Amino acid sequence: MKCRHCEEELRDKFLDLGVMPPSNAYLSKEDLEKPEPKYPLRLLVCTNCWLVQTEDFVGRSELFTSEYAYFSSTSKSWLDHAAKYCEKIIPQLGLGPKSLVVEIASNDGYLLKNFLVAEIPCLGIEPTTSTAEVAESLGIPVMREFFGEKLGRALASEGKQADLIIGNNVFAHVPDINDFAKGLKALLKPKGTITLEFPHLMKMIEFSQFDTAYHEHFSYLSFGTAKAILKHAELVVWNVEELATHGGSLRVYAGHSNEEHPETAAVAALLAEESERGMQKSDPYQTFQGKADRIRGEFRAFLEGQKAWGQKVAAYGAAAKGNTLLNYANIKADLLPFVCDAATAKQGKFMPGSRIPIVPASALQEQHPDCLVILPWNIAEEIRQQNLEIEKRGARFVTAIPEIRIL
Ligand SMILES: [Zn+2]
Repeated sequence: MKCRHCEEELRDKFLDLGVMPPSNAYLSKEDLEKPEPKYPLRLLVCTNCWLVQTEDFVGRSELFTSEYAYFSSTSKSWLDHAAKYCEKIIPQLGLGPKSLVVEIASNDGYLLKNFLVAEIPCLGIEPTTSTAEVAESLGIPVMREFFGEKLGRALASEGKQADLIIGNNVFAHVPDINDFAKGLKALLKPKGTITLEFPHLMKMIEFSQFDTAYHEHFSYLSFGTAKAILKHAELVVWNVEELATHGGSLRVYAGHSNEEHPETAAVAALLAEESERGMQKSDPYQTFQGKADRIRGEFRAFLEGQKAWGQKVAAYGAAAKGNTLLNYANIKADLLPFVCDAATAKQGKFMPGSRIPIVPASALQEQHPDCLVILPWNIAEEIRQQNLEIEKRGARFVTAIPEIRIL
């Protein structure tokens, strides 16, 4: 296989998690009777441009279906994050009623609804029907499409170029990242701005976040590599911010040139830090598999220990990353009988692979677990705060990444 960005032959393995179902393919009761599609989940690193990427096995139409059950608005902290971003970016770019804001992968309108309130014209691009319908019900116009150069050019030819293009957790989720970047270039007004948020590969390595690997997550990006990919599409990065979201993300600001916005000191500083940490050398990439294997062993041993001691364990948060962890550690309902989730779209279904049932949070009041494993560790504190009464009864909250930790 060749690198999706620079076409160099890929030789170096970063992570091999074996065979897994797509992380968002939640199962209905009827699905349990049928064989489950599973694909190898292997990540390779390009030793030319340092893009970490999944090996090609599965098409995106199988990953982002009309039944897609990830609704951004389920997380309060993510809604707050979106609202804060809008408060900051509207005055910073001087956006108003004559501007156009386009969000790619606009999901259920969790972010664009803030622009709607501010009376700034906006457009969402979102291929999954389940989420697009929710955004439309709020009054947000949505194009149900995958984004790339073709769509960027088509919109531009209709006179729909954007003053601001937002891509939150989509840049790393597209199979053809060069085509996506060219689409951004085509869709952007001459003085427009693009902001992209994606998990930072440097943090993924530092904090052993192997569970953020799943089939839908095609690319794992350092800042240097993201900047190079945008440059290849003739886009210039002029600022970067480090965010706490998803265990450590980047928000990259780009435009056609840096005439409007001179490059900030943060750009050179982060490039220097990545270089110091060896992000352009093989070493940090070689050690990652060992980190994943250590956590797999620890997590299994922890759950087996709890069972042996007669402790009741449950999990909270039927997140994609939880599926990676459960399936890699081969955890089934005998060790973890159920997973609670606030999203009604997931309740009554089963986790892909592990087939652990997903139930509403009210189950905690009936089952009284002694220990609650929070699978989306990135919002562990939010989940803990929402369930303090079970802590008062003596239950403990536990996260498994980067190691077993009792909150
Ligand atoms: Zn490459």
